[in-house]
Amino acid sequence: MQRRTFINRSSSAALALALAPTIFIQEEKEYGILELMGKEDIELFGKGINLRKEAHDAFIEMKKAAYKDGIDLKIVSSYRSYDRQEAIFERKFLQYTDDDGMNPTDAIDKIIEYSTIPGTSRHHWGTDIDVVDGYRKVDGDVLVPHKYEGDGPYVDFKKWMDENSETYGFYLVYTNEPKRRGFKYEPWHYSYAPLSIPMLEQYRSKNVASIIIREDYYGAEHFTMNFLKSYIQNNILDINRKLL
Ligand SMILES: [Zn+2]
Repeated sequence: MQRRTFINRSSSAALALALAPTIFIQEEKEYGILELMGKEDIELFGKGINLRKEAHDAFIEMKKAAYKDGIDLKIVSSYRSYDRQEAIFERKFLQYTDDDGMNPTDAIDKIIEYSTIPGTSRHHWGTDIDVVDGYRKVDGDVLVPHKYEGDGPYVDFKKWMDENSETYGFYLVYTNEPKRRGFKYEPWHYSYAPLSIPMLEQYRSKNVASIIIREDYYGAEHFTMNFLKSYIQNNILDINRKLL
């Protein structure tokens, strides 16, 4: 049932994805390395949504369906540029080292529990969202896992997304599997698979580490090639297997 809806709703490209990912990827458009690293302006759609066209349209359909079930899908974060990610990384690095007195390596390890190294965020792609239920009044930070469990405010949201999001092409990225490495469990981060699968495929074929190692911002001088290689293996590639 869900599969049929997905196919009806989506383009022929998504149909190809469901049947044969390889063909789908070969027919897709090519993305440049700067675009995949958030260093180029891309066309974004929707006020407060800011996604690529196809992802935007699918999100609107999903949002309408969620409304009917009493849930207001509200995007907290979607597209983020390289410069924005660099500002986030630097702010955290300086906070952990200068204010908290951590050594640089430990500070970087702590940053990459939840935040990315600039140029490696899936939010650079215009396909990924951090999303919550706007109907719920929540104190403090909304992007914390315990609010999606037990008697947390986003339990109904989580249940709805578990049952419905894949119908619209949106898949959880950082799952709760115990053996998964890289970023911690993020019950709020979803990716529009028909676009992001081919984008990841192209991303990993490029030598992103060789660009990152030459960057110049606070913290970047502590990156080594070995660190970046294992970071890419763990944080970029150890995700929900349906998105590989
Ligand atoms: Zn996110």
